Amino acid sequence: MVNRNPRLAALKAGYLFPEIARRRREFAVAHPEDPSKPETRIISLGVGNTTEPVLPRIDAGLVEGARKLGTVEGYSGYQDEGLPELRKKISEVFYSRAVAPNQTGQGKVSEGAFSIEEIFISDGAKCDIGRLQLLFGTGTPVAVQDPSYPVYVDGSVLIGAAGAWAETGYGGISYLPCTAENNYFPDLSLIPENSLIYFCSPNNPTGAAATREQLTELAAAARRKGCIIIFDAAYSEYIRDPALPKTIFEIPDARECAIEVNSFSKPAGFTGVRLGWTVVPRELRYAGGESVNADWARIMGTIFNGASNIAQAGGLAALTEEGQKEIRQLCDFYLENAALIRGALQKLGITCIGGDNSPYIWARFPGRDSWEVFAEILEKCRVVTTPGSGFGPSGQSFIRFSAFGHRADIEEACLRLETFGR
Ligand SMILES: *Cc1c(COP(=O)(O)O)cnc(C)c1O
Repeated sequence: MVNRNPRLAALKAGYLFPEIARRRREFAVAHPEDPSKPETRIISLGVGNTTEPVLPRIDAGLVEGARKLGTVEGYSGYQDEGLPELRKKISEVFYSRAVAPNQTGQGKVSEGAFSIEEIFISDGAKCDIGRLQLLFGTGTPVAVQDPSYPVYVDGSVLIGAAGAWAETGYGGISYLPCTAENNYFPDLSLIPENSLIYFCSPNNPTGAAATREQLTELAAAARRKGCIIIFDAAYSEYIRDPALPKTIFEIPDARECAIEVNSFSKPAGFTGVRLGWTVVPRELRYAGGESVNADWARIMGTIFNGASNIAQAGGLAALTEEGQKEIRQLCDFYLENAALIRGALQKLGITCIGGDNSPYIWARFPGRDSWEVFAEILEKCRVVTTPGSGFGPSGQSFIRFSAFGHRADIEEACLRLETFGR
């Protein structure tokens, strides 16, 4: 028989969301819903999945993209790194605020700071996060914000980064606690030399968005220690405070120490459509001086054959002026949901952060176990949440509330939360 990849055994038991789904099912069996009593319905504020329809201009782009495939003139096949128009448009729309090459006036800021060769279109940010590890191979030290999105740690374990995975499980990964005490920004002195740093802002799960000063410090620490930052900007379009940077590349020198992943999933409702991108600046080098960008092109060409051309047509529509308005409208809708949830929690005297520049609210239950609070909210309110401890040890005693949901469900969940703590 064939041996199992032993790294699979090193993964922490049960991925968080299947475990939540299991507990929800168990609860539903023990406490069945009664169709004549809407108040017995279980409402989920648990998963980070979008719920609202794709808006009309963007939807028309998807439809048109599909229709063109049925015509001789419009047909297209493999597109490898992505449609050049889409890559150019991404640079213009998302990276016009980014610092242009050495600021000598060569890079026209209005066109964005990146050439199309530095922007790679993909089937999503999570998929790219999984593949990026192939650049660095086994034994690379890894540092993650704690708490963090599970794929950074589990992806690192699977690829065999972080050293002696077999003996130590997660021991080779440095957790950088982000707690109320440090205002959810980690102590950068904990970052090991020559490591990969996963950094997500606005953060999932805490909802914290790093300031310009904080990202400047992060980039400086990375340069000093010979690290590469993998910056996850999946929630950048939820930023409403104009002082907050929306990309790591607003920080001078980040081009020499950062890769950025981003996605249409959360801003445009493309969680099921699948479209994302990764920026790998030409300046980024390994210890030996080789180009990271050239290797990423090689990896994408070898194990990925490009994003769906229908999804890319939708992405192009999302970046038209009208499409960008729709992105803003959709994010505003979820941010209004977030404000409702925050309000409900604050009425109960529960301390929370996030929800202002992100669709997540991070609520603190001092001295309590996350899964125990999860169970209590499920029992008393029939509302599913996410236990903070599932995102890392520093998530203990926290609960993540997701603002992805229909308005009526969010309002009903907020009403029910009033009974919590009684
Ligand atoms: C949802 C999410 C993504 C998006 O992943 P896709 O594969 O593009 O859908 C990326 N990073 C974080 C932190 C997320 O929460």
